[in-house]
Amino acid sequence: MTLKYSVKRLYRALLTLAEKRNIAVFEIKFSYFTRGKDKITGLYCCSENLILIEQNVSLSKKVFILAHELGHYVLHRAILNTTYWAVAYYSDINFRDERESEADRFAQKLLAFLTRIYEI
Ligand SMILES: [Zn+2]
Repeated sequence: MTLKYSVKRLYRALLTLAEKRNIAVFEIKFSYFTRGKDKITGLYCCSENLILIEQNVSLSKKVFILAHELGHYVLHRAILNTTYWAVAYYSDINFRDERESEADRFAQKLLAFLTRIYEI
């Protein structure tokens, strides 16, 4: 089994997880909206239950971005739409770094789990 095939399979598995939770996933060109100033490559929009992924990155990067955004869905969606989140996330770098690290760790564990169960 080639690595490329494995990554495709992993991406499909993540899309299925999102679909089962009614999360819409779209690939977009973030640089079109941010004019290249920001390095945003993924976003979970809680109010719309929507995940946006940068289209101009490799498939293995998309896999990690999608797993990371699913992490925000699982771990943070209860507080994402609160003023607390909005203030803390944009004013407290430690708060932001901790939440981002949590989503990264979730992504690593989810990908390790999927890799094992699908024997990818
Ligand atoms: Zn994040």
